[in-house]
Amino acid sequence: MIHIQAIPAFQDNYIWLLSEDCSQQSLVVDPGDASVVEKALDRLDLELSGILITHHHWDHTNGIETLTKNRSIPVYGPDNSAISGITHTLDGTETLAVLGTEFSILKTPGHTLDHIAYFANPDQDDPILFCGDTLFSAGCGRLFEGTAEQMQSSFNKLRALPENTRVYCAHEYTLANLAFAQTVEPDNHSIKEYRNKVIRLREQNRPSLPSSLKLEFTINPFMRTDQNSVITAVKEHAPNAPLSNDSEVFGALRHWKDHF
Ligand SMILES: [Zn+2]
Repeated sequence: MIHIQAIPAFQDNYIWLLSEDCSQQSLVVDPGDASVVEKALDRLDLELSGILITHHHWDHTNGIETLTKNRSIPVYGPDNSAISGITHTLDGTETLAVLGTEFSILKTPGHTLDHIAYFANPDQDDPILFCGDTLFSAGCGRLFEGTAEQMQSSFNKLRALPENTRVYCAHEYTLANLAFAQTVEPDNHSIKEYRNKVIRLREQNRPSLPSSLKLEFTINPFMRTDQNSVITAVKEHAPNAPLSNDSEVFGALRHWKDHF
């Protein structure tokens, strides 16, 4: 069985540490900071046996060089020469067998063009998704390189996964995202209830993650661009924006959030 722990890094990043019951082997996802990873490995008596990268931003990749200096381990990531240290490039068609678990790779451009996500459906547990900066709890990544259409299409790939999928995002942005979600859908009681729960978690300095796709379907406006309540709110906020399809609603919503 896989255990997944959050290693907080920088202001609000999470580096996810995966390990097994039966061995000392472990993996990290998006190690932007090597020192916090080394401390966690020491504390938990784990050996690092591989690295998964979702996209090229420095806060996800900066630890690769230090972590691989004295270790001969695979570093999986997108095919992007801007990321140094990748030993196995992934184009979205392959599966990856690591820690006794098979991961499939999903291409999820939008936040960046090279963005990929890692999904696995382990035998004895709910599915897991490492979605980097694509999907956040109650929100989505900024469109730095891709278009709203690309991001919407990436979201549709995630929406097609089983709804009990546990969602491991790379940042703790949940409370700020819920404030926006509540503005978009003030009558959505699930958002209100969940915001109260997250406030309590954060007061105890506990992560709000993982989320689940099932939860995101009820609280995340970017997962709800087909709902009348969201479409009406976007129309009222941006009366002149073209809103004839899901991606246009998604784009207008993202624009609204950028200026929120
Ligand atoms: Zn990023």
